[in-house]
Amino acid sequence: MNCSQCDQKAVLTLQHGKACKRHFINYFEEKVFKTMNKYQMIGRSDTLGVAASGGKDSLTVLYLTKKYLEKNNFVNTSFFALAIDEGIHNYRAKTLQDLEIFCEQYKIKLTIVRTTEEFGATLDEAYPKVNKDTHKKPCNVCGVWRRYLLNKHARALGATKVITGHNLDDEAQAIMMNMFKANISMAAHIGPITGVQEHELFVTRVKPLYFCTEKETRLYALLKGFAIEFTECPYSQEGYRSQIQDMLNGMEEKYSGTKQGIINSFLAILPLLREKEQREKQESIKICTSCGEPANQEICNACKIKEVLIEK
Ligand code: SF4
Ligand SMILES: [Zn+2]
Ligand SMILES: [Zn+2]
Repeated sequence: MNCSQCDQKAVLTLQHGKACKRHFINYFEEKVFKTMNKYQMIGRSDTLGVAASGGKDSLTVLYLTKKYLEKNNFVNTSFFALAIDEGIHNYRAKTLQDLEIFCEQYKIKLTIVRTTEEFGATLDEAYPKVNKDTHKKPCNVCGVWRRYLLNKHARALGATKVITGHNLDDEAQAIMMNMFKANISMAAHIGPITGVQEHELFVTRVKPLYFCTEKETRLYALLKGFAIEFTECPYSQEGYRSQIQDMLNGMEEKYSGTKQGIINSFLAILPLLREKEQREKQESIKICTSCGEPANQEICNACKIKEVLIEK
């Protein structure tokens, strides 16, 4: 099986043909740079905080952000990696070690924020307590913490944008989760550039890997030698998301292009969703009375979790 563009051995079959290592890498990088350009994800005077975990998506997005800045001669655009350590046993220490080695190799400034410092607990310690009262799954607690800490610390470090490594599979899952739960308001907030309303305390998030599938990203990271072992979070099978992931993988196997179809349909209706959200949500973003961070209610979700932990 040879590449459609040269006589080298193919590593992957793409929609338009087969690709060898070199042509796949070109295809992948061009797709990411095109997404960055199309959605104007990076400006010449931006300070970029790249949300990094040490996993394949974050190493890929870190590397390609650096490459994009160099390629386009964005000399005034600074960037740094920002990682959240939730203390997940047998997992996070390993990915953070990979991240530290990577950042050292590519000379990228790295800041690690620990949930023990901010919330006084690791996810392993907090989750059973929170779950007892609220039935929240580990990913719910983790998601709230990560969003909160990334926004707060990226802003404190001067970021004007947060870059995340979300890929096409992640986004297709998020779209379906919101649809199944009739969470139209949440759906309006996702997309290649997140958010409906701008707010000085919210740092806009952008997703350069938006059109890259999980399979493509994994292969790219592997071919570039970023991560040899792909470790999985021990909680990843517990959440609602993993069921949606299995369902979409099954559909994709039978009906190729399903995930891309979900993304395309979603992007076609996203402007209408945002318009609706803006029209109906008259009240502007609130400020949490406990911590001063932006919130949807009087008390933000991170502070509510904190309250449960203090009570125990
Ligand atoms: S799988 Fe869930 S618990 Fe694990 S890092 Fe992701 S969101 Fe956090
Ligand atoms: Zn080729
Ligand atoms: Zn708060």
